[in-house]
Amino acid sequence: AARQELLLSRIRDVHDYPQRGVVFKDITPLLADPSAFAELTDALAELCARHGATKIVGLEARGFILGAPVAVRAGLGFIPVRKAGKLPGATLSQAYELEYGTAEIEIHAEDLAPDDRVMVVDDVLATGGTAGAAIELIRRGGAQVAGVAVLMELGFLGGRARLEPALRGAPLEAL
Ligand code: 5GP
Repeated sequence: AARQELLLSRIRDVHDYPQRGVVFKDITPLLADPSAFAELTDALAELCARHGATKIVGLEARGFILGAPVAVRAGLGFIPVRKAGKLPGATLSQAYELEYGTAEIEIHAEDLAPDDRVMVVDDVLATGGTAGAAIELIRRGGAQVAGVAVLMELGFLGGRARLEPALRGAPLEAL
């Protein structure tokens, strides 16, 4: 509870960003506070251990900022999932629906092995589209999904329900 209070107090609401009517959850105050950032890193690393993760997938871009220290803290390898066209090696690609149009993310196929249990780490779960596409990439790469771990879930957007079929019983953890 104290941890939740600390983390919440370092997330800033930015109104009408990136467009009118949207309240954006800005985590940069949390990143700038070393004790809050350490608490967040520890909490996410604990979730990875609890769910038996062997690798961490971080989602571009804020999932990189959170996922990398969590990977070091938990003693696990880090795999970047990037927007299409950014990874130099042989990739798997997954398209997914946005509110307007589609997006595409990619992973290096060689980063995934059959005995890997991969935890997806990101800052915010909104509609669940990005995390759902990452789960598809992990499965298509032949690895197992340990779960999805985020700092914050925007419950009113229904991401948890949308993600449920893709999770196939794997946990969605929101701090
Ligand atoms: P989704 O695919 O679940 O709709 O959107 C999640 C992705 O968009 C995440 O990668 C997340 O970083 C970003 N995102 C969506 N809304 C917010 C927000 O309010 N704050 C932050 N920090 N990221 C957001």
